[in-house]
Amino acid sequence: MSDDNFIEKDTSATDAADEQNRQQRHKLRQQKLQQQVQQGIDKATAEKGLLLVITGNGKGKSTSGFGTVARAVGHGLTAAVVQFIKGSWECGERNLLAQHQVEFAVMATGFTWDTQDKAADIAAAEKVWQRAEQMLADPAIDLVLLDELTYMVSYHYIELERIVCALQNRPAAQHVVITGRSCHRTLVEMADTVSEVQVVKHAFDAGIKAQRGLDW
Ligand code: ATP
Ligand code: MG
Repeated sequence: MSDDNFIEKDTSATDAADEQNRQQRHKLRQQKLQQQVQQGIDKATAEKGLLLVITGNGKGKSTSGFGTVARAVGHGLTAAVVQFIKGSWECGERNLLAQHQVEFAVMATGFTWDTQDKAADIAAAEKVWQRAEQMLADPAIDLVLLDELTYMVSYHYIELERIVCALQNRPAAQHVVITGRSCHRTLVEMADTVSEVQVVKHAFDAGIKAQRGLDW
Protein backbone atom coordinates (compact mmCIF):
# COMPACT_ATOMS: atom_id res chain seq x y z
CA MET A 1 0.00 0.00 0.00
CA SER A 2 1.49 3.35 -1.02
CA ASP A 3 1.80 6.36 1.29
CA ASP A 4 -0.67 8.14 -0.90
CA ASN A 5 -3.28 5.45 -0.33
CA PHE A 6 -2.64 5.53 3.39
CA ILE A 7 -3.19 9.34 3.52
CA GLU A 8 -6.37 9.03 1.42
CA LYS A 9 -7.82 6.44 3.80
CA ASP A 10 -7.06 8.68 6.75
CA THR A 11 -8.81 11.70 5.09
CA SER A 12 -11.97 9.75 4.30
CA ALA A 13 -12.26 8.76 7.96
CA THR A 14 -12.07 12.45 8.91
CA ASP A 15 -14.63 13.31 6.18
CA ALA A 16 -17.02 10.73 7.58
CA ALA A 17 -16.63 12.17 11.08
CA ASP A 18 -17.21 15.71 9.72
CA GLU A 19 -20.33 14.57 7.88
CA GLN A 20 -21.63 12.91 11.03
CA ASN A 21 -21.00 16.15 12.95
CA ARG A 22 -22.80 18.18 10.28
CA GLN A 23 -25.77 15.81 10.41
CA GLN A 24 -25.86 15.99 14.19
CA ARG A 25 -25.77 19.83 14.15
CA HIS A 26 -28.50 19.88 11.47
CA LYS A 27 -30.64 17.53 13.56
CA LEU A 28 -30.23 19.73 16.65
CA ARG A 29 -31.08 22.91 14.66
CA GLN A 30 -34.19 21.24 13.22
CA GLN A 31 -35.27 20.00 16.66
CA LYS A 32 -34.90 23.55 18.06
CA LEU A 33 -36.87 24.99 15.12
CA GLN A 34 -39.58 22.35 15.56
CA GLN A 35 -39.85 23.22 19.27
CA GLN A 36 -40.14 26.95 18.46
CA VAL A 37 -42.86 26.30 15.86
CA GLN A 38 -44.72 24.00 18.24
CA GLN A 39 -44.53 26.62 21.03
CA GLY A 40 -46.06 29.16 18.61
CA ILE A 41 -48.83 26.71 17.64
CA ASP A 42 -49.54 25.93 21.32
CA LYS A 43 -49.83 29.65 22.12
CA ALA A 44 -52.17 30.42 19.17
CA THR A 45 -55.39 29.17 20.69
CA ALA A 46 -57.77 32.08 19.99
CA GLU A 47 -60.43 31.70 17.31
CA LYS A 48 -62.38 34.57 15.76
CA GLY A 49 -63.50 36.06 12.50
CA LEU A 50 -60.44 37.63 10.91
CA LEU A 51 -59.96 40.72 8.80
CA LEU A 52 -57.35 40.24 6.08
CA VAL A 53 -55.96 43.00 3.89
CA ILE A 54 -54.06 42.12 0.71
CA THR A 55 -52.57 45.30 -0.70
CA GLY A 56 -49.55 46.55 -2.69
CA ASN A 57 -48.74 47.12 -6.35
CA GLY A 58 -47.77 43.57 -7.30
CA LYS A 59 -49.96 40.97 -8.97
CA GLY A 60 -51.74 38.47 -6.75
CA LYS A 61 -54.14 40.39 -4.51
CA SER A 62 -57.47 39.37 -6.03
CA THR A 63 -56.26 35.86 -6.82
CA SER A 64 -55.28 35.52 -3.16
CA GLY A 65 -58.73 36.73 -2.10
CA PHE A 66 -60.46 34.30 -4.45
CA GLY A 67 -58.11 31.53 -3.33
CA THR A 68 -59.28 32.11 0.22
CA VAL A 69 -62.91 31.91 -0.95
CA ALA A 70 -62.17 28.61 -2.71
CA ARG A 71 -60.42 27.31 0.42
CA ALA A 72 -63.41 28.24 2.60
CA VAL A 73 -65.95 26.75 0.18
CA GLY A 74 -63.84 23.59 0.02
CA HIS A 75 -64.42 23.22 3.76
CA GLY A 76 -68.16 23.69 3.39
CA LEU A 77 -68.19 27.33 4.58
CA THR A 78 -70.44 29.88 2.94
CA ALA A 79 -68.83 32.78 1.13
CA ALA A 80 -69.87 35.89 -0.75
CA VAL A 81 -67.94 38.22 -3.05
CA VAL A 82 -68.37 41.93 -3.73
CA GLN A 83 -66.48 43.28 -6.74
CA PHE A 84 -65.99 47.02 -6.58
CA ILE A 85 -64.22 47.33 -9.89
CA LYS A 86 -65.74 46.02 -13.05
CA GLY A 87 -62.83 44.92 -15.18
CA SER A 88 -63.39 42.66 -18.12
CA TRP A 89 -66.92 41.30 -18.19
CA GLU A 90 -65.81 37.74 -17.74
CA CYS A 91 -64.23 36.55 -14.53
CA GLY A 92 -62.97 32.98 -14.24
CA GLU A 93 -63.45 32.82 -10.48
CA ARG A 94 -67.02 33.99 -10.80
CA ASN A 95 -67.76 31.33 -13.45
CA LEU A 96 -66.51 28.67 -11.06
CA LEU A 97 -67.58 29.89 -7.63
CA ALA A 98 -71.10 30.87 -8.69
CA GLN A 99 -71.64 27.14 -9.29
CA HIS A 100 -70.81 26.59 -5.62
CA GLN A 101 -73.48 28.91 -4.21
CA VAL A 102 -71.10 31.85 -3.81
CA GLU A 103 -73.08 35.04 -4.29
CA PHE A 104 -71.40 37.73 -6.38
CA ALA A 105 -72.42 41.37 -6.05
CA VAL A 106 -70.85 43.43 -8.83
CA MET A 107 -71.05 47.18 -9.37
CA ALA A 108 -73.88 47.55 -11.83
CA THR A 109 -72.70 50.28 -14.15
CA GLY A 110 -69.14 49.47 -13.29
CA PHE A 111 -66.38 51.67 -12.05
CA THR A 112 -63.38 51.22 -14.34
CA TRP A 113 -60.02 52.96 -14.58
CA ASP A 114 -61.14 55.14 -17.48
CA THR A 115 -64.33 56.29 -15.79
CA GLN A 116 -65.81 59.54 -17.08
CA ASP A 117 -69.08 59.66 -15.18
CA LYS A 118 -68.37 60.28 -11.51
CA ALA A 119 -72.02 60.60 -10.46
CA ALA A 120 -72.93 57.25 -12.03
CA ASP A 121 -69.91 55.62 -10.40
CA ILE A 122 -70.83 56.95 -6.96
CA ALA A 123 -74.41 55.72 -7.37
CA ALA A 124 -73.14 52.27 -8.43
CA ALA A 125 -70.69 52.18 -5.51
CA GLU A 126 -73.45 53.08 -3.08
CA LYS A 127 -75.73 50.37 -4.40
CA VAL A 128 -73.17 47.58 -4.22
CA TRP A 129 -71.92 48.80 -0.83
CA GLN A 130 -75.46 48.50 0.55
CA ARG A 131 -75.42 44.84 -0.49
CA ALA A 132 -71.98 44.49 1.13
CA GLU A 133 -73.39 45.95 4.36
CA GLN A 134 -76.13 43.31 4.33
CA MET A 135 -73.55 40.57 3.85
CA LEU A 136 -71.46 41.99 6.70
CA ALA A 137 -74.51 41.75 8.95
CA ASP A 138 -75.42 38.20 7.96
CA PRO A 139 -74.13 35.50 10.36
CA ALA A 140 -74.97 32.84 7.75
CA ILE A 141 -72.05 34.11 5.60
CA ASP A 142 -68.73 32.82 6.93
CA LEU A 143 -66.45 34.75 4.57
CA VAL A 144 -66.90 37.98 2.61
CA LEU A 145 -64.42 39.04 -0.06
CA LEU A 146 -64.47 42.79 -0.72
CA ASP A 147 -62.43 42.82 -3.91
CA GLU A 148 -60.88 46.21 -4.80
CA LEU A 149 -62.65 47.95 -1.90
CA THR A 150 -59.60 50.14 -1.24
CA TYR A 151 -60.34 52.33 -4.29
CA MET A 152 -63.80 53.21 -2.97
CA VAL A 153 -62.03 54.82 -0.01
CA SER A 154 -59.27 56.56 -1.99
CA TYR A 155 -61.79 57.94 -4.51
CA HIS A 156 -64.09 59.02 -1.63
CA TYR A 157 -66.96 57.02 -3.14
CA ILE A 158 -67.81 55.31 0.16
CA GLU A 159 -67.19 56.97 3.52
CA LEU A 160 -64.45 55.27 5.49
CA GLU A 161 -66.56 55.52 8.69
CA ARG A 162 -69.30 53.40 7.14
CA ILE A 163 -66.83 50.71 6.17
CA VAL A 164 -65.23 50.73 9.64
CA CYS A 165 -68.65 50.56 11.28
CA ALA A 166 -69.82 47.61 9.14
CA LEU A 167 -66.57 45.73 9.77
CA GLN A 168 -66.64 46.36 13.53
CA ASN A 169 -70.26 45.27 13.88
CA ARG A 170 -70.06 42.16 11.70
CA PRO A 171 -70.81 38.71 13.21
CA ALA A 172 -67.94 37.70 15.53
CA ALA A 173 -67.04 34.58 13.54
CA GLN A 174 -67.19 36.15 10.08
CA HIS A 175 -63.96 36.45 8.08
CA VAL A 176 -63.43 39.36 5.68
CA VAL A 177 -60.80 39.80 2.97
CA ILE A 178 -60.17 43.25 1.51
CA THR A 179 -58.04 43.63 -1.61
CA GLY A 180 -56.70 46.59 -3.57
CA ARG A 181 -53.76 48.94 -3.81
CA SER A 182 -53.02 51.78 -1.36
CA CYS A 183 -55.18 50.50 1.47
CA HIS A 184 -56.18 53.24 3.92
CA ARG A 185 -54.09 53.02 7.10
CA THR A 186 -57.21 52.81 9.29
CA LEU A 187 -58.16 49.53 7.59
CA VAL A 188 -54.57 48.30 7.86
CA GLU A 189 -54.62 49.06 11.59
CA MET A 190 -57.96 47.30 12.05
CA ALA A 191 -56.87 44.18 10.17
CA ASP A 192 -55.56 41.05 11.87
CA THR A 193 -53.40 40.03 8.91
CA VAL A 194 -51.98 42.36 6.28
CA SER A 195 -49.90 41.36 3.28
CA GLU A 196 -48.30 43.70 0.82
CA VAL A 197 -47.63 42.22 -2.62
CA GLN A 198 -44.63 43.87 -4.27
CA VAL A 199 -43.81 44.05 -7.96
CA VAL A 200 -40.56 42.38 -8.85
CA LYS A 201 -41.55 42.32 -12.52
CA HIS A 202 -44.77 42.04 -14.50
CA ALA A 203 -45.27 40.61 -17.98
CA PHE A 204 -47.41 43.61 -18.99
CA ASP A 205 -44.29 45.79 -18.88
CA ALA A 206 -42.74 43.50 -21.51
CA GLY A 207 -45.72 44.15 -23.80
CA ILE A 208 -47.68 40.99 -22.96
CA LYS A 209 -51.42 41.52 -22.75
CA ALA A 210 -53.64 40.24 -19.93
CA GLN A 211 -54.18 36.51 -20.41
CA ARG A 212 -57.47 34.66 -19.92
CA GLY A 213 -57.26 32.26 -17.01
CA LEU A 214 -54.19 33.95 -15.59
CA ASP A 215 -55.13 37.61 -15.27
CA TRP A 216 -58.96 37.35 -15.31
P1 ATP B 1 -54.74 39.49 -9.80
O1 ATP B 1 -56.21 39.70 -10.09
O2 ATP B 1 -54.05 38.88 -10.98
O3 ATP B 1 -54.48 38.81 -8.50
P2 ATP B 1 -54.22 41.98 -8.53
O4 ATP B 1 -55.56 41.88 -7.91
O5 ATP B 1 -53.04 41.88 -7.63
O6 ATP B 1 -54.08 40.93 -9.69
P3 ATP B 1 -54.97 44.56 -9.61
O7 ATP B 1 -54.25 45.76 -9.18
O8 ATP B 1 -56.34 44.31 -9.10
O9 ATP B 1 -54.01 43.32 -9.33
O10 ATP B 1 -54.96 44.55 -11.19
C1 ATP B 1 -55.82 43.79 -11.95
C2 ATP B 1 -55.19 43.39 -13.26
O11 ATP B 1 -53.97 44.07 -13.53
C3 ATP B 1 -54.85 41.91 -13.33
O12 ATP B 1 -55.14 41.47 -14.63
C4 ATP B 1 -53.39 41.85 -13.07
O13 ATP B 1 -52.74 40.79 -13.75
C5 ATP B 1 -52.91 43.17 -13.60
N1 ATP B 1 -51.79 43.66 -12.80
C6 ATP B 1 -51.59 43.47 -11.49
N2 ATP B 1 -50.44 44.04 -11.08
C7 ATP B 1 -49.90 44.62 -12.17
C8 ATP B 1 -48.69 45.35 -12.45
N3 ATP B 1 -47.83 45.62 -11.48
N4 ATP B 1 -48.48 45.77 -13.72
C9 ATP B 1 -49.35 45.50 -14.70
N5 ATP B 1 -50.50 44.81 -14.51
C10 ATP B 1 -50.77 44.37 -13.28
MG1 MG C 1 -57.27 42.91 -7.96
